[in-house]
Amino acid sequence: MRGKEFKRIKSVLGVVLLATLLICTMVIPPAVTAMKSRTIPGLGDFTITKEDLSEGDVINYDWYTPNGEDLVFWIEDEGGNGYKTKQVSGSSGSFEVKSNGDWYVKWSNLNSKDVELEYDVTVESAENDTSTLVGYFIILVVLITIVVGLLLYYMKKDYEKEKEKEELKESQQTQQQPSAPPSQSQQQQPQQPQQAPRQPQQSQPQQAPPPPAQGSSTQQTQQQDGKPCPECDTPMRYVEQYERWYCDNCGKYQ
Ligand SMILES: [Zn+2]
Repeated sequence: MRGKEFKRIKSVLGVVLLATLLICTMVIPPAVTAMKSRTIPGLGDFTITKEDLSEGDVINYDWYTPNGEDLVFWIEDEGGNGYKTKQVSGSSGSFEVKSNGDWYVKWSNLNSKDVELEYDVTVESAENDTSTLVGYFIILVVLITIVVGLLLYYMKKDYEKEKEKEELKESQQTQQQPSAPPSQSQQQQPQQPQQAPRQPQQSQPQQAPPPPAQGSSTQQTQQQDGKPCPECDTPMRYVEQYERWYCDNCGKYQ
């Protein structure tokens, strides 16, 4: 019993672990973003456009030149106003958008040769913040539902297994029970008049004795064809050992 419970706890732990892993793989990727690469030609520019931003949105930027060249970096609005302007070989930070509209993240290469750029620019929308939260919440609810469903499934499976085992035990006991006493009752049978008036046709006890062996033991089984089965009308046999009528067609005592 304790080993079984341990097994169950182990399976539950496995499910919880799996769910945690799932949550991690779904939640972490948006936070971890990969850098993109770009070659800015000598004396050229590179612009990333973020369209239809709203006041309060935040542009997150993270960039560097692997070879250490300086670039002029700035963020610009639709009117051509520049912010955060600097000439460095790398920079990271965030900028809160001052007005609605398109915004540009820009690099200008003042070198005469090409410059490699590694960059990552994302927008954190004030509106999207709540919608991503709702998205995570929905994911969480779905995951919890899956976990609870799996738990219930495993518990039900366990319960059914145990029930099956118990039923098997019970049926084994019921099959053994009637076969044990006959050696005694067979000898006592003629001296027991109380059992005689019992009408076997009317009530069938829950613990039915096993079907009699056909033809083999003629002392125990008397062939008394004639009394028809109440269910199928086939002539039944009277089994003296149990004082009951047995229908071969239905395979049970009637
Ligand atoms: Zn029958």
